[in-house]
Amino acid sequence: MTKQARKISLTRAKELKNAISNYSQFKKQAIIHEKDIKKIYTSRKEQLLDYFNATEDDWNNWHWQMKNRITDVKMLKKFVPLSKDEYEAIEKIAETNRFAVSPYYLSLIGDKETDPIKMLALPSRAEFHTELGKEDPMAEEFTNPAGSITRRYPDRLIINVTNICAMYCRHCQRRRLIGETDHHTSLDDINKSINYIKNNPEIRDVLLTGGDAFLLSNERINYILKELRKIDHVEIIRFGTRTPVTMPQRITDELVNILKKYSPIYVNTHFNHYQEMTEESKKACEKMANNGLVLGNQAVLLKGINNDKYVMEYLNHQLLKARVRPYYIFHAKRVSGTTHFIPKIEEGLEIMEHLRGRTSGLAIPTYIFNSPGGLGKTPLLPKYIMSHEGNTYKIRTWENKVIEYTEKD
Ligand SMILES: *Cc1c(COP(=O)(O)O)cnc(C)c1O
Ligand code: SF4
Repeated sequence: MTKQARKISLTRAKELKNAISNYSQFKKQAIIHEKDIKKIYTSRKEQLLDYFNATEDDWNNWHWQMKNRITDVKMLKKFVPLSKDEYEAIEKIAETNRFAVSPYYLSLIGDKETDPIKMLALPSRAEFHTELGKEDPMAEEFTNPAGSITRRYPDRLIINVTNICAMYCRHCQRRRLIGETDHHTSLDDINKSINYIKNNPEIRDVLLTGGDAFLLSNERINYILKELRKIDHVEIIRFGTRTPVTMPQRITDELVNILKKYSPIYVNTHFNHYQEMTEESKKACEKMANNGLVLGNQAVLLKGINNDKYVMEYLNHQLLKARVRPYYIFHAKRVSGTTHFIPKIEEGLEIMEHLRGRTSGLAIPTYIFNSPGGLGKTPLLPKYIMSHEGNTYKIRTWENKVIEYTEKD
């Protein structure tokens, strides 16, 4: 290397280091924040165990977590400080759109009023404004050819296997299905769905979701997988589950042993904020990865929670450390009672613009807009081709340097 080349490299390296200094600052704060949350978690967990007269073993048992979900505002108030206004709003909204939070997830609520976990888990007054959205903006009602299937694409479809979740996210895009009562899809509808797949050989990818697909019993999961694996043209099976986030206790050895028999199995989960990536969650993800399950994350871009380029970048780094590949960031749909969470598309594009180049390509998911009326997922990208005339393109780089490129015939 010439002296000159080294000098240029060093100058460039310094420039690159400076380009990330804001994020480095953010990261320091995030690490402090994580430590604070861990303290809150430990003490609230103790308080909950005390209240339920329960043991560490109970806590680690997902049936215990499900049985003791907090669904009542009076009880909630014992563990989370609520203003009078918050208390009244929760009480009122729960009449039509229930809330339920696993003791585990409740323990992650921090002490700020704008705490992201609190916003994700507890109803707020903004949910009263149901007139601003639609119950079913994706017209899912019209995409159900058999059983409990949603089919919107040529080669893949969804089987909705349950409407139960460990925690009912306030931004839930399938809010109308959550309704007021818990129920798994009937065996009859499951069998009709499997039959439909049998009779339609172009279906090569089956996505089990709901609700939360991991809230089915091990026996039911095993049954569905066994039946699907009898169909030659089913190449891959995917699960949609938020349990690694809201109830990581669900990821038991028994469950993972069932899943790995039916490889290739993909598991897509739903982390929205780094505060959700606890030691428990990380262990659950690692257990799945160690057993050959391929993990992805589908976040929803939410106002006041993660519509921030540094929050997203840090979340994606935490996901990769737990061997979860960021897959999608969804732009939230206009679902009744959730519209207060919807950010501007411009904000999503800024996040994508920020990530590209500044961090590993592995940490960059696709930003997806769901076309109203059920016309499908559409990727949104910052514009990198600025103009195009004949064979000549004007393209800008991640640092906004404009280059001209002419294609040869
Ligand atoms: C999102 C979705 C899928 C899966 O889409 P991918 O882009 O392949 O992840 C399949 N079916 C329906 C109905 C969906 O909404
Ligand atoms: S886990 Fe998924 S389906 Fe269940 S409430 Fe949350 S977003 Fe909705």
